[in-house]
Amino acid sequence: MHDKGVLAIVSGPSAAGKGTVVRRAMNIAAEIGQDVQLSISMTSRGIKKDEEEGVTYYYVTRERFEEAIAGDELIEYNCYNGNYYGTPKKAIADRIERGTSVVLEIDVNGADQVVKLFPEAVRIFVMPPSMEELEKRIRLRGRETEEEIVQRLAKAKEEIPRALDYDYIIINDIIEDAAGDLLNTIVAEKNRSCRKKWIIDEVLGK
Ligand code: 5GP
Repeated sequence: MHDKGVLAIVSGPSAAGKGTVVRRAMNIAAEIGQDVQLSISMTSRGIKKDEEEGVTYYYVTRERFEEAIAGDELIEYNCYNGNYYGTPKKAIADRIERGTSVVLEIDVNGADQVVKLFPEAVRIFVMPPSMEELEKRIRLRGRETEEEIVQRLAKAKEEIPRALDYDYIIINDIIEDAAGDLLNTIVAEKNRSCRKKWIIDEVLGK
């Protein structure tokens, strides 16, 4: 027997830096040999600067996305600012069964859908240190129009109180610390006694 992987749902407002934290955590995990992988979402939004097909997202047309919904290919999906985002079913359950932890970087609505299907999933909310810092980060990355920035800030104000529905809150002030906290949280969850009943039988030779 061995431990199953942890399904970790990471949410937080746009530009809280969850993408950066998650990617840094994945790099650290690879360096230290921790078995954690990122699930790549599918989106109907266009590719933006510094993004890459199959790395940041699988970029598809609206029609292809709707086909995936109809074909039950997604664990969850949501429409955000007029674009679809969803988590492909492919490989998630298999990887967890094999012992690999899988990180889903999804919005708060998607998180609710995943928890219904995988109640043992752990929910982690990445919080910006302040609203001012969040706005600064959105503007600095220079990916959105002024209208989109205003929409994203309004959405952030709605999402932040939802952090209390999550199991953990990680404040993303210093990326390296936040990435470390994310990995430590996944390890701690993996070691929960309810996930390790198998070791009792193994030690007792049952
Ligand atoms: P962005 O356009 O900034 O890359 O993402 C917009 C929002 O969609 C973010 O809050 C991000 O976490 C969320 N998102 C990304 N992938 C998924 C997904 O697969 N499912 C859901 N529900 N939300 C997602």
